[in-house]
Amino acid sequence: MDRRAGEDRGATEITVPLTVEEREMLRLLCQELDLGGEEEVLRLLVRQAVQRVAITCPTCGHFARLTAEDEANCEACLSVIKLVEGLWRLEC
Ligand SMILES: [Zn+2]
Repeated sequence: MDRRAGEDRGATEITVPLTVEEREMLRLLCQELDLGGEEEVLRLLVRQAVQRVAITCPTCGHFARLTAEDEANCEACLSVIKLVEGLWRLEC
């Protein structure tokens, strides 16, 4: 499956200015989650957060944004995906 979420492919560096408080939170999470660094913390949090708002499109493997509890739209291939009996299926 083609997943553009490939970890090392086409990595883009993002610089985010953090407040003192935010840095402290990151440091705490880093220790608490036993991760290698603040960058790892951010990666993990983003990955967890995206699962709450998106599903993986069964057609193209890109992320499909949830539009309802049981419906999602893929902006990459324009599929409409519906949750039927616990499974995400393409709307026909
Ligand atoms: Zn798609």
